Amino acid sequence: GLDVEAVTVSFGDLTVIEDVSFGVDPGTVTCLIGPNGSGKTTLLRVITGLLQPDSGTVTRPTTGARPVGYLAQAPAFRSQFSVRETLSFYADLVGEDVDSDSAMERVGLGGVRDRRVEALSGGMTRLLGIAQATIGDPGLLVLDEPSSGLDPMMSHHITETIAELADEGAAVIVATHDLGAVSRIADDTVLIDRGHVAATGAPNELLADTGASDLEEAMSALV
Ligand code: ATP
Repeated sequence: GLDVEAVTVSFGDLTVIEDVSFGVDPGTVTCLIGPNGSGKTTLLRVITGLLQPDSGTVTRPTTGARPVGYLAQAPAFRSQFSVRETLSFYADLVGEDVDSDSAMERVGLGGVRDRRVEALSGGMTRLLGIAQATIGDPGLLVLDEPSSGLDPMMSHHITETIAELADEGAAVIVATHDLGAVSRIADDTVLIDRGHVAATGAPNELLADTGASDLEEAMSALV
């Protein structure tokens, strides 16, 4: 699985992540929640290896054709490429004989395979990003706001897809403000507040610990 150990990140004088530790088992989904600016995206970038922490270590799973699949908050795709071309481009980057069709079918984009990226809706573009992240069956999937700004059905479809990817064995970490999605798919949560871990536990444990009736209320009690 994934192991984050005593990670600290500073930008100049500003410490954004301080002494954060937690783990994610293979086959499970951990949701990273917390207020705007609490450090979630920064922590995800450290987990992917894009950003070096000032101190601490990240140990990643070693299964799959590539170590990490990452959906960035605002992924950039080439607007003129079709869905199929975009995904096969990434598959070629991962390696020879890496299949992209299964990733396309998995998220339900097979029906728009020849549509250009610039002609996709926002939700379809998000699905394309998730498909891209899953190419090569990485042992670790890191998803930044996969369902923000989507209609409830699309959000539901995306969270179902994420749960299936974990069922296939990936360790999945998702930063999200979508607390409905958290209660549906999180095996575990990590609540970040101003760069610190404020609480961890399954959604129902957060409710039990705070006596709250929903996650929104639990979060308000904990930060
Ligand atoms: P949101 O929920 O709004 O997406 P977040 O929890 O993902 O927020 P981050 O994007 O990780 O938060 O930002 C955490 C803090 O670090 C913020 O104060 C932000 O301004 C700061 N920060 C992020 N990247 C940099 C950078 N490259 N240089 C300086 N400060 C940065």
